[in-house]
Amino acid sequence: MSVFVSIRQHATPIAVERGQTILEAALARGVPYPHGCRSGNCGACKSRLEAGEVELAPYSEYALTEAERAEGLVLACRAVPWSDVAIAWLEADEVAAHPLRQLTCRVVAIADATHDIKRLHLATEDGGPFAFSAGQYAALTFAGHRPRDYSMANTPEEPVLEFHIRRTAEGAASNYVADRLRLGERVELDGPYGSSWLREGHRGPILAIAGGSGLAPIKSIVATALTRGMAQSIALYFGVRDERDLYLEAFFRALEARHRNFRFVPVLSDPAGETARRRGFVHEAALADHPDLDGTKAYLAGPPAMVEAATASLLARGLRRQDIHADAFYSEAEKAALAATAALERIA
Ligand SMILES: Cc1cc2nc3c(=O)[nH]c(=O)nc-3n(C[C@H](O)[C@H](O)[C@H](O)COP(=O)(O)OP(=O)(O)OC[C@H]3O[C@@H](n4cnc5c(N)ncnc54)[C@H](O)[C@@H]3O)c2cc1C
Repeated sequence: MSVFVSIRQHATPIAVERGQTILEAALARGVPYPHGCRSGNCGACKSRLEAGEVELAPYSEYALTEAERAEGLVLACRAVPWSDVAIAWLEADEVAAHPLRQLTCRVVAIADATHDIKRLHLATEDGGPFAFSAGQYAALTFAGHRPRDYSMANTPEEPVLEFHIRRTAEGAASNYVADRLRLGERVELDGPYGSSWLREGHRGPILAIAGGSGLAPIKSIVATALTRGMAQSIALYFGVRDERDLYLEAFFRALEARHRNFRFVPVLSDPAGETARRRGFVHEAALADHPDLDGTKAYLAGPPAMVEAATASLLARGLRRQDIHADAFYSEAEKAALAATAALERIA
């Protein structure tokens, strides 16, 4: 037996079969419902539930915060209706609304950023330019591999796209990029996705915390904020294990020299020898330097463990969830594990 879902942006209600999510039903009927990962991780299908009841399969709290859930937002990719439902996907002032594109790109530069991170530049070949908001990501498909999520590191104004790709142990795509990708090679791009983008209307301080290749979206956010003249205090804490993991320091020192409101602080968690750098966990250094977080927005990106620890500390210090914009770099294995848990809970 099916129930009916009225979507504010679509003329006629759609039937949703038992067990089907609203997003599955909408896409099957050709409704251009905004979406990304389809697994409750990215937040691109965030919607306002206007009437009726849905059951939400498990999702990442980065895609939908408790506060958002409490104010009636849901993820269409996780929402299975229990009754007839009225729903609306979020509009441009509530989301970064860019058309989803599938573009063919060519590798125009590839270089070592560190011993395990490649800095990759891609030029769109057809159908460009590629519109996105600073902080968003795309799914990249390298020859013969499955698509993988990588964040744009350039500002939206720069026509050549920049990515920072870290080699993952046993990872198919990242090892291909590290060892075999060549100049001129074709890369398919699908996006943009993600909800951890720069809120340009915000006037309070910005605290950006990046771990490893999490610097990619944070570079885009910080550089975009500064080049667009955002004048509040902007601090970037870049956490890595040791000196050899630091990269783009000259770029951020140059930004510091040009913008008095910007500060760049590298933090080493595991230095092999003596160092004049800050030591410790990156979020702890950031919080030690910022006892007052009133009016602050935090942008976090990098390994899930770092993003989770930083989020917990920021919440404990009184920052509201809606002021924490986080991109946890889940691998495909972690995403598969999340999806399996969700499927089991749906069966139970
Ligand atoms: C929103 C977002 C943005 C991201 N941005 C960046 C970025 O800018 N830079 C960056 O470096 N990373 C980023 N990541 C992380 C990146 O997408 C992953 O590291 C990527 O999956 C690596 O791909 P891979 O093919 O090399 O490794 P994967 O295929 O993901 O493999 C990683 C490990 O998992 C195992 N594995 C793979 N699939 C499965 C499965 N189904 N079940 C069990 N085990 C499996 C592999 O054997 C391997 O050990 C981002 C992730 C997200 C979610």
